[in-house]
Amino acid sequence: MINLISDTVTKPTPGMLQAMLQAEVGDDVFGQDPTVNALEAKAATMFGKEAALFCPSGTMTNQIAIKVHTQPLDEVICDEYSHIYQYEVGGYAFNSGIGVNLIKGTNGKITAEQVAAAIKPVYDWLPISKLVVLENTCNKGGGSFYTLDEIRPIQQVCQERGLALHLDGARIFNALVETGESTRAVGEVFDSISICLSKGLGAPVGSLLIGSKVFIRQARRVRKAMGGGMRQAGFLAAAGIYALDHQVSRLKEDNDRAKRLGEVLSRQPYVDNVRPVQSNIVIFDLKAPWTAESYLAHLAERGIRITQRRGR
Ligand SMILES: *Cc1c(COP(=O)(O)O)cnc(C)c1O
Repeated sequence: MINLISDTVTKPTPGMLQAMLQAEVGDDVFGQDPTVNALEAKAATMFGKEAALFCPSGTMTNQIAIKVHTQPLDEVICDEYSHIYQYEVGGYAFNSGIGVNLIKGTNGKITAEQVAAAIKPVYDWLPISKLVVLENTCNKGGGSFYTLDEIRPIQQVCQERGLALHLDGARIFNALVETGESTRAVGEVFDSISICLSKGLGAPVGSLLIGSKVFIRQARRVRKAMGGGMRQAGFLAAAGIYALDHQVSRLKEDNDRAKRLGEVLSRQPYVDNVRPVQSNIVIFDLKAPWTAESYLAHLAERGIRITQRRGR
């Protein structure tokens, strides 16, 4: 079976499993798991930040970031396609008691002008615009990505208006292998960053929240309150260290394969159109009489699994 429904279906390589087996572990709730500590230090250094926090999922790292950056009755500004809005169960309201101020961007990407226009004036009857979240790459935007030149003006608006800027960088490395930009440069423009180890990087579990010492100290408390304090998590962190050491550059192979797949699909008579393939996500429409259901069944019989995208 060739499973292309997501880059989360990756399984650990033998090298990664070996690293997990050999991990030195302790109790991370006490801060005493050396492998977790090593992973957190590695991620912080990579992005030129002071500290990092290992969490079970990217949903949790995003939700913790929102919680630490905001107070109830604030709002977060983001594109309408954002994962934090679309796919985190409305957790921003549940966990943080805040609202969302949605921008209609282009393929999930927003501009500094749009952000500036969305920031609310301060009145007793309005939520306070406190946080901007950018997603890079943008999942529902078809794997679109920002360059730092596009992000810096947004950072400037945030700085001038006193808003925090968070990166949902679940697939940040898929963007960086295309732009050639450095993780340190990314660290310079965001107050906090979430990255996923469990997608194309092939780790079984895990995400990291990265930021200042003060921010991560508070994030650590929120993680515990959310039930995300893990004990001998070093077995998982070892997979994460292995992923960062060995798998990052290989994401270029994923992006290139996705591009090739897009080219081949665009030549098929049953394909109506293929959206521009920008990183590792391929989206295409079928011509009648094919439907998503009939095509998925056709592929499944041939040992290939893909998924239907709903909505725009
Ligand atoms: C996958 C993903 C996340 C986090 O997902 P989890 O499954 O909770 O780890 C966050 N943002 C984006 C854009 C994602 O694609």
